[in-house]
Amino acid sequence: MKVLITEYLRINLDSELYECRRCNGALGSARETYKRGLLVYDRDPREIHKPLLDPKLYERTYSPHPDWCRILEFYCPHCGTMMEVEYVPPGHPPLHDIELDIDALKEQWKDREEVIEPPIGPVPPRRTHMHGHGHDHGAHSPADTKKN
Ligand SMILES: [Zn+2]
Repeated sequence: MKVLITEYLRINLDSELYECRRCNGALGSARETYKRGLLVYDRDPREIHKPLLDPKLYERTYSPHPDWCRILEFYCPHCGTMMEVEYVPPGHPPLHDIELDIDALKEQWKDREEVIEPPIGPVPPRRTHMHGHGHDHGAHSPADTKKN
């Protein structure tokens, strides 16, 4: 039995391993943080949030200082899918953000059918809306144009 956890993560209750939902690769024990089974890219935040002011002229540039902030990107080691991103102070361990009660999950799912993909509701009807400048953007496409 496999149970969906996040968009990219699921747990295999039989093996008690986390798995990548994109490539089905096993990631590591579900009794520990799933991040132990992922690749980590410790990013300099200035690469992500570029300085808005010249760093030669200004001490503060609206870009996070790498002495105060790191950006950790977590990737599946099998397929390279980015599974999580977090902002932490330098040296801070990755956040342990998901801790599952595996025994309770087994009990909850023992009589249920496996869910391979999350259910998606019906596509809502297309809304047309009027807004500030008095015409409708909702129904216009080249296919809607009638030639007279
Ligand atoms: Zn993967």
